[in-house]
Amino acid sequence: MALTGIQIFKLLPKTNCKECGVPTCLAFAMNLASGKAELDSCPYVSDEAREQLAEASAPPIHPVAIGKGVRRFTVGGETVLYRHEKTFYNQTALAVLVTSDMADSDLAGKLKTWNAFQFERVGLNLRPELVALKDVNGEKDAFAQKAKTIAETSEFNLVLMSEDAEVMKAGIEACKFKRPLLYAASAANLEAMGELAKENELPLAVKADTAEGLIPLSEKLTRMGLNDLVLDSGSREIKTALEDQVAIRRAALKDGNRALGFPTIMFPCEMASNLDMETMIAAMCIAKYGGIVVLSDFTGEGLFPILLERLNIFTDPQRPMTVTEGIYEIGNPDENSPVLITTNFALTYFIVSGEIEGSRVTAWLLIKDSEGLSVMTAWAAGKFAGDDVGVFVKKSGIADKIKNKTLIIPGYAAAIVGDIEEELPGWTITVGPREAAHLPAFLKGK
Ligand code: SF4
Repeated sequence: MALTGIQIFKLLPKTNCKECGVPTCLAFAMNLASGKAELDSCPYVSDEAREQLAEASAPPIHPVAIGKGVRRFTVGGETVLYRHEKTFYNQTALAVLVTSDMADSDLAGKLKTWNAFQFERVGLNLRPELVALKDVNGEKDAFAQKAKTIAETSEFNLVLMSEDAEVMKAGIEACKFKRPLLYAASAANLEAMGELAKENELPLAVKADTAEGLIPLSEKLTRMGLNDLVLDSGSREIKTALEDQVAIRRAALKDGNRALGFPTIMFPCEMASNLDMETMIAAMCIAKYGGIVVLSDFTGEGLFPILLERLNIFTDPQRPMTVTEGIYEIGNPDENSPVLITTNFALTYFIVSGEIEGSRVTAWLLIKDSEGLSVMTAWAAGKFAGDDVGVFVKKSGIADKIKNKTLIIPGYAAAIVGDIEEELPGWTITVGPREAAHLPAFLKGK
């Protein structure tokens, strides 16, 4: 059972030293109880108290690592019902279904196509993570051979899907090195699947007919020593699937129900008759607590929107996305190339750099740290003031790379021209367009 704030407080040093970032041990205890603080933030907790507090400080939804290598990822680990309360931590993993009776050439072709679905956005590589291999005929050799092909010839990690422990065992032997998720233990095969997961130290999905039905199954598996579980409430109807997800998340977060404190897996591929509808259901699953979402196919037009949705839902709402302060080269600029400056809000950077690239004018782009604010907000908040901009330009070293000391500033920051000129004697400060879309015409006209 999770401890209350007062119970946690009794185990803390009570020195009120403030090193954890809050004024008192009591405040820290309350934050820990509500999942808003990490135990490691207090350096003075005794080992004995740490052991007792471990359960209270563990995320109410257990984080489960799946896969190996650079494509390894974690699902679960969430601490809030709503993103704006803090943030959601671990992105919903996207999976695509293949069957064990699929022709080898079809599988190879699909894997090649799906591997190519990678999208660059605000400096991040967006791509799906998993192939879910489903046993459809109980032939363990065919299942193992497909698992081997997926593991060895693609970057995807795997979900192995079979109700037969012998078939599952063959699949594990073929791709254990990729730490696949086993799907699924049910009332009928719980012990055999549990033993396989335990022996091979692999994550295991557990399936029931209802959300409540998951509780005795996950308790039994936990007693077997298995903690890396993923839950399937069995619902394949949109309304009940959504209700189950909300109920599971609430039970784990609000009631401290450890038996439901695991990430979930959802199957839009079994909830719709066409990929467009599947994609819309997947969008709901991403927004409402799906840990892993399985589709019947990936297409560019279906995948890209849900990857973007996922990116937006899983970014920290309290921290704007930023790029590092510094000098960025657009094309191969030389000593005669123009110098532009803007803020370090990631979207600003990518829009401005994209427009400069599109203009085919090589340029130096200076990015000043504005704590992730866009130009107008940064200027209004004093994070893009003329004297600061001047000091940054001096320190950046751009003067050593150019002959003609002209700096183009964003049109929305026109009011800071005078202050920059004072800070940068010998420079010409030019006010550029307000909108990045007008940069190509502006640069070509210079
Ligand atoms: Fe108390 Fe530890 Fe925080 Fe210091 S760091 S105030 S001892 S909880």
